[in-house]
Amino acid sequence: MGQTYLTLLSSRQKIWLAAGIAAACLLGAVGVLLEPAGQASSDERLAVTMSIREIAPRLDMTGKGLARELGLPLDAPKNKPLAALGIAQDQLDEATAHVRSHRPTRLKYYLFAGIVLWALVYMIRLGRPDQADLSRRRSWYPRTGYIACLILAVLVCGLALGKSPNPMESVVKVVKSLAGLYPSVLDKVLALLFFVALGIVGNKLICGWACPFGALQELIYSLPLLRRAKRWKIPFWLSNALRCGLFVVMLLLLFGVVGGTKGFVIYHYLNPFNLFDRHFEHWLILATTLVALALSFVVYRPFCHLVCPFGLVSWIAERFSLVRIKIDRTACTNCGACGRACPSQAAQDKVAGKLLGADCYSCARCLNACPQDAIRYGSVFS
Ligand code: SF4
Ligand code: SF4
Repeated sequence: MGQTYLTLLSSRQKIWLAAGIAAACLLGAVGVLLEPAGQASSDERLAVTMSIREIAPRLDMTGKGLARELGLPLDAPKNKPLAALGIAQDQLDEATAHVRSHRPTRLKYYLFAGIVLWALVYMIRLGRPDQADLSRRRSWYPRTGYIACLILAVLVCGLALGKSPNPMESVVKVVKSLAGLYPSVLDKVLALLFFVALGIVGNKLICGWACPFGALQELIYSLPLLRRAKRWKIPFWLSNALRCGLFVVMLLLLFGVVGGTKGFVIYHYLNPFNLFDRHFEHWLILATTLVALALSFVVYRPFCHLVCPFGLVSWIAERFSLVRIKIDRTACTNCGACGRACPSQAAQDKVAGKLLGADCYSCARCLNACPQDAIRYGSVFS
């Protein structure tokens, strides 16, 4: 067993390795080349002598959306100067900074796609070296390829490029545009479909490998600390009920069914992606971020399981994923080894054949745990 993982790859796999890295880098390079230069108008200072009607188009928002950002009722007069509506310049500056923090960068879409492409190659072609049989299964799916990707996601898709766009935001923006807070619903729906597609092509790969906040939680959980505490897992029925409940509450508040203030977006106060802009507009955002990161030392992806609306959407989309974990029921002896290796209840639910089992993040931990070789990662068509 002195041989390293790389020496156990066949020549065919080495070609896949080179091709996978090259294709992912190429996608990133195309993204850099196609990224539009910064818009000159983006730093324009907007003044309270202007009206909502004048400012909203400059921020690519509807009048209602801007009114919401400024803490005004959605039916506030749109033609009056903001000063006449009691808005101070500081308030306008803060709202403008928040709206502009949702940068319409396209580069990140290419990077997300590149990471998911690499993840697919790794999971399907590279994880199991052709020259390492079942007796060497501990050398399968080495963590290095995964951890390197997670670090890249945090550093580049998070810290370097900031919070937007991200999968969580894509869901929130669709719902906000349906409530009339953004001018174009189609743009927002297309962005969401992009992320859902990345979650379907390989089971939740966008969450498991590319989402910067998901990656940060995964990295913290992967630290070899508090192993005993990690054995306890939040029951999936409970975490999913909370996640679904929060989504319903968000809809009720947003459409003014409860609370009476139409346009209130609860996820705005629970958005840990602000970490990547190093800017927290409300103490609740900072608290959510810190609690999620602290819990990640012992709980697997707490924000994803308990809060994130994209976590919920991609959990539903998992039913349609084209490439995923598959259990060979003729070989499985129900020994529970994969369930113990899995940080959530996903492996155990898959062995039990549950249709609505826990989220699987394609983390590969279960793939070298089975002594019967009854778990594979592959296409649903093969
Ligand atoms: S579920 Fe987690 S990994 Fe997926 S988008 Fe939300 S924060 Fe990111
Ligand atoms: S260990 Fe669990 S979450 Fe990870 S790939 Fe296996 S079933 Fe999915």
